[in-house]
Amino acid sequence: MKFIFVSGGVISGLGKGITASSIGFLLKSRGIRVTSIKVDPYLNIDAGTMNPYEHGEVYVLDDGGEVDLDLGNYERFMDLNLGRDNNITTGKVYRSVIENERKGSYLGKTVQIIPQITDEIKSRMIQAARNSDADVVIVELGGTVGDIESMPFLEAVRQLGRDIGRNENALFIHCTLVPIMGTVGEEKTKPTQHSVKDLMNAGIRPDMIICRCKSEITDSAKRKISMFCDVDESAVISCPDARTIYEVPMILEKQGVADYIIKRMDLGPLTKKSDMSEWKGFVERIVNPKGRVEIALVGKYTALADSYLSHLESFTHAGAKLNCGVKVRFIDSDRFLSENPKDLLEGCDGVLVPGGFGTRGVEGKIAAANYARENKIPFLGVCLGFQVATIEIARHVVGLNDADSSEFNPDTANPVIILMPEQADISDMGGTMRLGSRHTVIAGGSKAAELYGSDGCDERHRHRYEVNIDYIDRLEAAGWHFTGRSEDGKRMEIAELDGHPYFMAAQFHPEFKSRPLSPSPLHFGLVKAAMAHKGL
Ligand code: GLN
Repeated sequence: MKFIFVSGGVISGLGKGITASSIGFLLKSRGIRVTSIKVDPYLNIDAGTMNPYEHGEVYVLDDGGEVDLDLGNYERFMDLNLGRDNNITTGKVYRSVIENERKGSYLGKTVQIIPQITDEIKSRMIQAARNSDADVVIVELGGTVGDIESMPFLEAVRQLGRDIGRNENALFIHCTLVPIMGTVGEEKTKPTQHSVKDLMNAGIRPDMIICRCKSEITDSAKRKISMFCDVDESAVISCPDARTIYEVPMILEKQGVADYIIKRMDLGPLTKKSDMSEWKGFVERIVNPKGRVEIALVGKYTALADSYLSHLESFTHAGAKLNCGVKVRFIDSDRFLSENPKDLLEGCDGVLVPGGFGTRGVEGKIAAANYARENKIPFLGVCLGFQVATIEIARHVVGLNDADSSEFNPDTANPVIILMPEQADISDMGGTMRLGSRHTVIAGGSKAAELYGSDGCDERHRHRYEVNIDYIDRLEAAGWHFTGRSEDGKRMEIAELDGHPYFMAAQFHPEFKSRPLSPSPLHFGLVKAAMAHKGL
């Protein structure tokens, strides 16, 4: 069992997740099996109860794990399907240890951070590694070296490195920032030196240092870092700002990162020669697309792009396949209540209403769906967006003026969206929704079948409410056809509107399974329809 540990220093938000994912991509492209683990030092058990403004979107896995968005990057770059055990949080670790203490499992011992907490961290990492068939496990340590919260994790990985025999079985990569001061472009290596000192204080000597920087760092700066931080010069790597995150594997490849790791960890003989040509074409089409469309994303967390990260990535993947750049215009849905939809959507060729919770912003989303429907602007509704589109059609096409979701108006006479029966007695908020992958049966001859194929699809879910089947006949008679349903036929999963170029919605989240070279079918459909709308 071999581990690569990726830590970060100087500042947060260095793109450690992209670096870890890119390294995984490079190893995988040579036939090495990889998996990854993300450590989040917060006390939440998982990301599920957090507002997207805290850490960005809540990413959902096949097994229903609600996890940090970095797991999305791992899945996209390494083309993997991970599980909830690939995200270790302080909350999960402490909960287990405290439960064990109550059971008396520690046989009268004093329970402490070292060894009980660190042992629990190590055993979770080893378990996640065993559950995969990977040759190499990449562990990304969230937070910044020096944070109080990160200390137990650093100690645990230090010990784990020692337990498995440091040399070829454990490799430590530290990501830092190399700022450039003033206009003369002098690179400052001091923050990196200090941060490596912090790491060494924790007993960890890095094997490789990856430096985030504006533009490639000079050989003399590399030499300096190599000298002061005691790392091979060929293991000091520049990671300059890229044109797209998908370019990062190519930047690292050029500097021999994978070759260094393979040699150092004795990962040969390799089963495959790395061939990046398909990936290069993908990156080229992102950077230099033939056409461009703009899509409005109407949501309530629009001040932070990371709240909708998987949608943005889905558009990038779809756009690359169609050779069309997709610009996303974030619009706070409340603005649809006081401003003219025509002005807000001026120049947009498509509208996406993503998922969401709670009453605020819902009426604005309904207004956006209404405008897109009446003006034949391509539209995609996802999860709450699916419910919103259904409410809009129930109100304005079927004629049920007070149609609503019982989530927003428990007293409505026409609850077209209702709580799922199995949710009725649930009071805990964490991990209790209808979560994870479920099969959807797709009706032949539908637009959904055109996009997904007629075998149906397995997409990820995260919701408590659903379409009320008492209204299906009326909605379908109005042209809103439920062309995707659960296997028992009782749960509505995909709907599409007659007589509109592209007005579709899904109860599931197609954005979570979009991959660089195989985009989410529904996002692909939206971008294609947006191109047609623009005359491309
Ligand atoms: N609030 C809605 C529900 O719980 C939609 C959830 C979502 O968009 N993820 O069903």
